[in-house]
Amino acid sequence: MSDYKGVMVHCEVAEGKLAAIATELLGCGRKLADELGEELSAVLAGSEVSGLAQAAIAFGADKVYVVDDGLLKDYETDSYVTVIEKVAKQVMPQIIITGQTNTGRDLAPRLAFRLETAVTLDCVELAIDPDSKLLQQTKPVYGGNARAIFTSESMPQIATVRAKAMEPLARDDSRKGEVVNVDAGLDASAIRTKVMETVIEEVEGIKLEDANVIVTGGRGIGGPEGFKDLEELARLLKGAVGASRPPCDNGWVPDTMQVGLTGKIVSPELYIAVALSGSSQHLAGCSGSKNIVAVNKDPEANIFKEASYGVVGDWNKIVPAFTEKVKELLAG
Ligand SMILES: Cc1cc2nc3c(=O)[nH]c(=O)nc-3n(C[C@H](O)[C@H](O)[C@H](O)COP(=O)(O)OP(=O)(O)OC[C@H]3O[C@@H](n4cnc5c(N)ncnc54)[C@H](O)[C@@H]3O)c2cc1C
Repeated sequence: MSDYKGVMVHCEVAEGKLAAIATELLGCGRKLADELGEELSAVLAGSEVSGLAQAAIAFGADKVYVVDDGLLKDYETDSYVTVIEKVAKQVMPQIIITGQTNTGRDLAPRLAFRLETAVTLDCVELAIDPDSKLLQQTKPVYGGNARAIFTSESMPQIATVRAKAMEPLARDDSRKGEVVNVDAGLDASAIRTKVMETVIEEVEGIKLEDANVIVTGGRGIGGPEGFKDLEELARLLKGAVGASRPPCDNGWVPDTMQVGLTGKIVSPELYIAVALSGSSQHLAGCSGSKNIVAVNKDPEANIFKEASYGVVGDWNKIVPAFTEKVKELLAG
C-alpha cells in the first residue's frame, strides 16, 4: 500500500469545458485527499484540453496530468484506457475516481483489469475508513432498496461515482497547482473502434440528468395526453419530465425519459412520482433524490415507503389542483 499515494480523478470534458461530473469528483477527491493528508491529482485526456488544466486546479486539484492528443478527440475504449492506465502507472494513486457515466462505466472496469485491482461501480458516497485508511465505497444494492459499503485491499482502489451525488467546491481561480504534460504515445492502428457520428439528444427545456426537479409519470397516467399535465407542472417548477418503463414501452413518451435500472439514474432535489408503484427497478434510478413526493391512488403502493411526502388519490384531480396552486404562488 505504501507505494500508492494520493487520489486521482478522471476529469471528463463536455462541450469544451470540464463536465459537471468532473467538478463534483474534484470536490469529493479533495476531501478524500485532505483526510489522507495526500495529493489530489486530475487526469485530463482529450483533444485540445490543455486549456482546462487551470479549471481543474481551481476546482481542487493539486496536480493535473494533461494528455492532449488528436487521437483522443472522441472517447474510444482502446485509446482512453491506454492513456489513463499509463498515467495511473506513473502517478500510482491509491484511489482513482471516475464518473458513473457512459465513459466511466466503460473505462473503470477495464482500467481495474489492467491494473489488476477491483472496482466498485455506481457509488453515492465515498469516505476514508479512520482505522484502515481504506476507501469506504457506498453504493445502492438490491435495486436501490439497501446500501452497502465496500472496501478493497487491492491497490489502486477504483470507484465510479453517480452524477450529483457529490458537491463541487466553489471555483477558486487563485488556487495554484502543477500541470504535467504526458505524451499519449498512441498508435492509431491499435484503436479498433471509430466514432462515426455523434448524435446530440435534442431536449426541449432542462435535461433529465441536470434537473433539480423531476415530475415522473407511471403506467397510471394512462396515455400520452396525461404527460402534458406533468409537463405543465414541470415547466412551472423549472424541472423536467421523466417516466417509468411502461409509458416508454407503450410509446406514450420517448425512451430517453425512462428513469430506473435500465433507464437514467437521477438525483434531483425534488422527485414527484405520479401514478407509479415504486418497483425496485424504478427506484434504482431515483432513490438518490433528496425528496420524493408520491401521488398514487393505492395507499399500499411501495413508492410511499420511499417518499418523504405522499398524497393518496387520483392524479387527475391532484396534479391539476397542485399546478393551479403553484401558479397562484408564483404569481403572488
Ligand atoms: C430487468 C428489468 C429492468 C427494468 N427497468 C426498469 C426501469 O429502468 N424503470 C422502470 O420504471 N421500470 C423498469 N422495469 C419495470 C418494473 O419492474 C415495473 O414493471 C415498472 O417500474 C412499473 O411501472 P409503473 O410503476 O409505472 O407501473 P405499475 O407498477 O403498474 O404501477 C402503476 C401505479 O399507478 C397507480 N395508479 C393507477 N391509476 C392511478 C390514478 N388515476 N391516480 C393515481 N395513481 C394511479 C397504481 O395504483 C399503481 O401503483 C424493469 C423490469 C425489469 C425486469
